[in-house]
Amino acid sequence: MDVRTFRRVLRVLLDRYKPRNWAAGRGRFEVLMSIIVSQNSTDLVTERVMNALTSQVPPTPTAIAGMRAEKLARILRPAGLSRQKVPKIREIARVLVERGDEEMDAFATARPSPARRMLLELPGVGPKTADVWLSLVAGRDTMPMDTHITRLVRRWHLSSGKDYERINADLRRYVPRENRQAGHLALIYFGREICQARTPRCEACPVYDDCDAEDKRPRKDS
Ligand code: SF4
Repeated sequence: MDVRTFRRVLRVLLDRYKPRNWAAGRGRFEVLMSIIVSQNSTDLVTERVMNALTSQVPPTPTAIAGMRAEKLARILRPAGLSRQKVPKIREIARVLVERGDEEMDAFATARPSPARRMLLELPGVGPKTADVWLSLVAGRDTMPMDTHITRLVRRWHLSSGKDYERINADLRRYVPRENRQAGHLALIYFGREICQARTPRCEACPVYDDCDAEDKRPRKDS
């Protein structure tokens, strides 16, 4: 898919999903926890779990670091992978308390590259988590990618890169800077709803005519 076609597709998807920044109005550490909790989970479950958590403790590094691991695990369990997520979240909370940066000010105010490096130095924070946080919380120019976006990149032949950074660099050439925050959400919603991994729902696809995927499935009327 060429740049012009991709941008046409992106406009359709932005118009369809009208993504809103779900992190707006939430605390920086709370959002970081939400991003970690959301891994391999749905938005609905993540929201429920985070509501359950914040109804019991303030979502601050001090409160989370001081919470018993079993209690945190019990609350986060519905979102899955609590054995991995709980130690990660507790360790990040501990590091932030130790740094004296409860509000994550240093992360939000640093220039983009150092801010990303600092986030990646936090225990268990990978490029995707860092990019989502930088985009939604700090308003930085990143283009976060999850498995849905990576699949679309492959299907639409946007990159032949093998790793996150290479694919991300290629994808950024396609997505205009001003559309990256909403665009990453729109692409995720599209990957979840229509262009699914195993069986893409091509019959319901709003960008069918522009799609050049090998696994595009014929429509009944075509
Ligand atoms: S036509 Fe099918 S493969 Fe192509 S983008 Fe739409 S759902 Fe995905």
